[in-house]
Amino acid sequence: MSAKFNYITKECLFCKETDAANHPVIYKKNFRDEDLDAQVFSARRTTEHFHYEMMKCAKTGLIFSRQILDDASLNQLYKESLVTFGEQTEFIKNDYWQPLREHLEGRGKQKALDIGCSNGFFLEVLKDNGFKEVYGCEPSTEAKDIARADVKDGIHTGFFGPGLYPENYFDLITCFQTLDHLSQPLEMLRNMYTNTKKGGLAYLIMHNTQALQAKIFGEKSPIIDVEHIYLFNKENLPMLCEKAGYKVVSCFDLKNGYPYSYWLRMAPIPLKSMWQSVFKATGLANKVLSINAGNMAIILEKL
Ligand SMILES: [Zn+2]
Repeated sequence: MSAKFNYITKECLFCKETDAANHPVIYKKNFRDEDLDAQVFSARRTTEHFHYEMMKCAKTGLIFSRQILDDASLNQLYKESLVTFGEQTEFIKNDYWQPLREHLEGRGKQKALDIGCSNGFFLEVLKDNGFKEVYGCEPSTEAKDIARADVKDGIHTGFFGPGLYPENYFDLITCFQTLDHLSQPLEMLRNMYTNTKKGGLAYLIMHNTQALQAKIFGEKSPIIDVEHIYLFNKENLPMLCEKAGYKVVSCFDLKNGYPYSYWLRMAPIPLKSMWQSVFKATGLANKVLSINAGNMAIILEKL
């Protein structure tokens, strides 16, 4: 049987050469092509923990997948992926909005773009907080159908890329849980920079490889996943954003507030059904717990 997908080789984003001495393999590939379908590429599913062979840069701590599916294969899988985080959306909206708020004071709120906008949940937040025009890009064809009426029209079904929007256009560009899914994150940041207005902001959220959970669970951490091509920390992410032209305003841990039942579902621990019963019986299942779940955020400015 011929291979189902084509693979390409990725390089370190910081070193001239991806030499083996400075980029040791930390995890071996653990799946076959037959194991992959669009379900594996849907946000916040109960993860199977498939991952490519992963390396770590000794100089910067960048963790990355070495041999990955080519763009055509990835695009197909993302197009067919499902929007699966409906029940947590209200919590996520608040968690993502709060840290940004103070940075927007005294700035323009004419146009905003959310890259990888899913069902447009953050476009709703921006609209509700005074942005006049909100735009989004999202490859999943299902996402636009379920978006709120007043943000739907601004959603482009497809990937973000050069030429899609005018230069120096947006007061704010946001991008959540997307950068570490990209095969070319620096190019994407450069494109974002081009579309950001002078004096405008960018705001990104993604996993942090130096978060406690990532360190404790290692290969079993949900972030070690076939969806993730480059994984960052609070040192190398600002470096990459500066390469793209941005000034780093702030890079910090993000707190997430979800019900206990959600934390349990995502936790890589045994005896889940037992804990579920305990949580239900004690009424804890629906209580909200705010913790640092291993996400970091970065706020950038185009000077
Ligand atoms: Zn390197």
